[in-house]
Amino acid sequence: MSNKEVRVRFAPSPTGELHVGNIRTALFDWAYARHTGGKFVFRIEDTDTERVTDEYIQAALGTLRWLGLDWDEGPEVGGPYGPYLQSQRLDIYAKYAKQFLDEGFAYHCYCSAEELEAVREAQRAANVAPGYNGHCRNLTSEQIAAYVAEGRKPVVRMLMPEGSTTFTDLIRGEVSFDHNFVPDFVLVRADGSPLYTLAVAVDDVLMKITHVLRGEDLLSSTPRQIRVYQAMGVAPEDYPLFAHLPFVMGQDNAKLSKRNGEVSIAWYRDAGYLPEAICNYLALLGWSPGEDREDVTMKELTELFTVERVHSSPARFDIKKLEAINGDKIRALTPNSFFDWAMPFLTRANVVTGTASEIELVKKALPIIQERIATLSEIPPMLKFLFTQDFAVESDSASKISDEQSKKVLQASLDRLAGLTEWNHAAIESVLRAALIEELGLKPRIAFGAVRIAVTGSHISPPLFESMELLGAAKSLERIKAALLI
Ligand code: GLU
Repeated sequence: MSNKEVRVRFAPSPTGELHVGNIRTALFDWAYARHTGGKFVFRIEDTDTERVTDEYIQAALGTLRWLGLDWDEGPEVGGPYGPYLQSQRLDIYAKYAKQFLDEGFAYHCYCSAEELEAVREAQRAANVAPGYNGHCRNLTSEQIAAYVAEGRKPVVRMLMPEGSTTFTDLIRGEVSFDHNFVPDFVLVRADGSPLYTLAVAVDDVLMKITHVLRGEDLLSSTPRQIRVYQAMGVAPEDYPLFAHLPFVMGQDNAKLSKRNGEVSIAWYRDAGYLPEAICNYLALLGWSPGEDREDVTMKELTELFTVERVHSSPARFDIKKLEAINGDKIRALTPNSFFDWAMPFLTRANVVTGTASEIELVKKALPIIQERIATLSEIPPMLKFLFTQDFAVESDSASKISDEQSKKVLQASLDRLAGLTEWNHAAIESVLRAALIEELGLKPRIAFGAVRIAVTGSHISPPLFESMELLGAAKSLERIKAALLI
């Protein structure tokens, strides 16, 4: 192992919002760079201008920043090997394509889409491996002149020599590809635009990338990238080292998709997941800190992350586990930071506008729910009863308090509470227990359930007595009175 500085890159092609799979890769890249004291390079692979839009690029930057995955080189921060947007590097790829043509590593291919399809069709019929058949490898100058006269525009195709490519994947060990299954591939389209395999390999070399940690779906592109390194004249000891991360599967063991969890990180943010929880959970998808631990902070991740601890078997995405970790991270927040996370959710849901008196009440209410929620989006429905101007019992709960028994409970509560001189949760609890449990002989769930619905409007709420204390005597009594008429 040389003592070169470690340089790891995350190189997405944002054709949509970054999702769980992308971010798992970004996180491992970042953690590896931080663990080794190396550089984390962020490169945007946007040569497919139709699918990669500026909006998605901006969203990708925002997502990494939100998660705390800071990059040392890349968009916005620059760096010595920029630009870091491939769309701004097209002349570089064109230069290499020309060099490969001149030196015989690549050739012009004039085959039309129909001709290529006919080749594939014949290969299917003969049951042989699909791929380009090398038709244009050795065209004569007459053949070329004829194609040009026809108006055909060539693509640039890389010539894969006979033989095989073998490399040592840091996770999978030795991996070998027989070139019979790696056909000559296109580097530059007929319109002059570069393809992924050319751009990714050229940039990894020029940006002095030492480690490529990326999803297993890209494993099969590795022999093609290595061929580009060879054509660039890179010595084998200078090739980046590859580590292909295991697939992330959905609960149903199928590859992750929208249906089983592969939703964008923006979705998790809006649903009230904390960045630390997302990173902690994604870190466990294919890696483990050891000792059966499941909680890791970002700092611990950078201390403990090694590629040796990455498994090669697929990981399974389990939103329930993410939710549990999120609940733990919420409970671990300081009161101030819980308040900072909660406020945007409360204002977006129009529960509060942010006046001083509202803020005061929010600060009192948050401690009673911090232990009870798994996502921040649970906060507005839980606290709405404290702020709403037009209170009404939710319709599915109203039916639960319209019976005789509930009326008896509510009337007894009202009578006792009206006489309370001190309005605090301990006093409220003691009179309600006396009236409902001792005198009426009811079970707590039944007795307090009716009061809960009357006061908070729902059968799910923060702790009842604390809720009533925060709501105040006047509103609590008024709501119980109103509930008697339901
Ligand atoms: N740009 C490629 C993608 O988003 C990944 C490049 C790489 O990691 O090699 O699929």
